[in-house]
Amino acid sequence: MNNSHSGLKVSVTGVVQGVGFRPFVFSLAAKHHLTGSVWNTSLGVEIELFGSQTGLEAFLNDLRASPPPLSRIDQIRTENMAFQSLDAFIIQSSQAVEGQFSPISPDMSICPECRREMFDPSDRRYRYPFINCTHCGPRFTIVKDIPYDRPLTTMAEFEMCPACRAEYEDPLNRRFHAQPVACPDCGPRTTFVVNGQIVGKFEGAISTARRFLQDGKIVAIKGLGGFHLACDATNSSAVEELRKRKKRSDRPFALMSFDLETIRKHCFVSNAEEDLLNSPQHPIVLLTKCQNALLPEAVAPTQNHLGFMLPYTPLHLLLLEPEEDFPDTLVMTSGNLSDEPIAYDDRDALQRLAGIADGFLMHNREIHMRVDDSVTRVIDGQNTLIRRSRGYAPDGLVMNRELPEILACGAELKNTFCLSRSNYAFLSHHIGDLENYETLRSFESGIDHFQCLFRVQPCMIAADLHPDYLATRYAVQRAQSENLPLFQVQHHHAHLAACLAEHQRPADESAIGLIFDGTGFGTDGNIWGGEILLGSCQSFERIFHLEEMPLPGGDSAIRNPSKIALSYLLETGIAWQAGLLPVRAYAPEQLALLETQIKKRINTPLTTSMGRLFDAVASLAGVRQEVNYEGQAAIELENLCAPEEETAYELPIADSRILLQPLIQAVVADVQNQVPVNRISARFHNAIVQMCLQVCNQIRTERGVQLVALSGGVWQNSTLIRKTKPLLESNGFSVLVHHQVPTNDGGIALGQLMVAAANFNQ
Ligand code: ZN
Ligand code: ZN
Ligand code: FE
Repeated sequence: MNNSHSGLKVSVTGVVQGVGFRPFVFSLAAKHHLTGSVWNTSLGVEIELFGSQTGLEAFLNDLRASPPPLSRIDQIRTENMAFQSLDAFIIQSSQAVEGQFSPISPDMSICPECRREMFDPSDRRYRYPFINCTHCGPRFTIVKDIPYDRPLTTMAEFEMCPACRAEYEDPLNRRFHAQPVACPDCGPRTTFVVNGQIVGKFEGAISTARRFLQDGKIVAIKGLGGFHLACDATNSSAVEELRKRKKRSDRPFALMSFDLETIRKHCFVSNAEEDLLNSPQHPIVLLTKCQNALLPEAVAPTQNHLGFMLPYTPLHLLLLEPEEDFPDTLVMTSGNLSDEPIAYDDRDALQRLAGIADGFLMHNREIHMRVDDSVTRVIDGQNTLIRRSRGYAPDGLVMNRELPEILACGAELKNTFCLSRSNYAFLSHHIGDLENYETLRSFESGIDHFQCLFRVQPCMIAADLHPDYLATRYAVQRAQSENLPLFQVQHHHAHLAACLAEHQRPADESAIGLIFDGTGFGTDGNIWGGEILLGSCQSFERIFHLEEMPLPGGDSAIRNPSKIALSYLLETGIAWQAGLLPVRAYAPEQLALLETQIKKRINTPLTTSMGRLFDAVASLAGVRQEVNYEGQAAIELENLCAPEEETAYELPIADSRILLQPLIQAVVADVQNQVPVNRISARFHNAIVQMCLQVCNQIRTERGVQLVALSGGVWQNSTLIRKTKPLLESNGFSVLVHHQVPTNDGGIALGQLMVAAANFNQ
């Protein structure tokens, strides 16, 4: 035992504000009989402690071992101080320091303690739909500015009642400085609105919403980061009606069930998936459907997977509370018409969703920042984000180096943007497809908000090479008007850099990038997407790529896999025989026109896209001749892949080109020989896997590189990952795949930022 007295200064960085960190420190100091104080600073929390040496050491151990659930400690630094004799340990109030910043916590699902209180008839917040504490509740969506304090949130208009204030001011209470703290006496309330009229309030609002859902109606529900559109997922006519009103063709709907047992009736849930569903983020998790899943096909047409989440707000729990004859699963899809951003403002929602929803479950806590649900899946036992949004954004990604302040504007589809400061990259929430005015507005206001919250003043702007992306145009204009350097990053180089950055690789370390996606502007003006790159964050070389193929009509051909198949047949010299499915999809005069268009290259750019190769093969194999969202044919082709098939089509390499003719020819022959489509799919997948090994081997031999990064939207295909990664690893390669940053274009902004940063000082 060392009982000598001394002092210690402790600096903690990470997500340590607005998450109950100071009260935690307070109680820890009390436990170990230490005096001193704790306060928030620009980068985190500072603590001064005085007491016995043993107490100080025990304090540090506890701090490391069990920090508050929503906090994330990035670093703890300690410094010895002279002992001071003080009476107590105190919490000092926060002070805004000009120009400084601190990470802001994402919104978090209701914690177990609040949940218990809400269902406890003796609790003063019994059945109160806005119960929260420092461990849970809204954060990012209600913050208007920093420091994160009630007057700067949308809770400012609610004056705390004496009981709430007492909890808020008591350092030992779970609600100490919980900015959104509220109760039925002083906090937000629900209403139910039909045709602009309030027809139910408080419990009555929720029970009316439940009756509507039970009757097969569609209800708009104001949640944490925006509105959902909900209906009874077990009622096929309700689901089909929602699909029709939302104009959402075939895209799968997200689902919400009250508990895990209900989800298990429809899907397999592994331990890792269970943990993810129950994690503080409560994301939508893509789960494999059971054979006997009872939900109507219209919920997610032709999918092998269903996207499920558990109720993440107290309001959701009350809405889904089990009762006989009440549906155990609801569709909870984002509240928008397809392609528009999610509605989050009351007036806007009442207007835009009027033609879709029969009623509105509203509340009067304003949403300041719109945030969509996150979508994830488990690959290799690890959380793998497909859409990084609610619960994850705006958590800063910790990079392995100090970064200049840069704004990266991202790509067109699944847009996110990214800002850097210190060693953090703040990758934004999901913005959406930047194809219309509303989404562009959301993009611009999101950037303004992030710059304000994190006090970032960019000294450089990064963007895609594509001149027509709205994000690129925004970048060009801003760089011009603010006289900042603009750095345009090739799309697939950005994918590679995003993967390297996620794994904290040094800026100059080179990797083989197997970058497969649908579309991206190449340095030669062609549409790239089947790219084998060698490069680092600084620069890249294009070593191999799929053979160039004509893409009649450019990116609009994405809707017609049959058109792509016909083009690939023509270009590889394979006749359009009458029996082939893509040929049968057109009248003879249409075929003649198409042939002229392709041969004369009228509005027909060249592409090396891997996504388009999937489309062509899906069409030839009869999976699908038309799609109504990007990637649909590829997903369905993957779903059919026969696991036991071991043979592969040939993808020979000539110089830098991966030739497609033998593969297309073999697919046609298999179709004509009536080989089952699941074997065709498997041979095609195997061909890509074998090609990956071949190109990696060749590059390793010639260039000595054995680090491989898999990135691009095609890698959402988990069959491809599960086949490729172990094969490369068993051949001695180290393989990086995405987990925290989306492999699709939702991760592009991070890559752009890291490439710009690596070129900033040169
Ligand atoms: Zn809580
Ligand atoms: Zn109150
Ligand atoms: Fe991409």
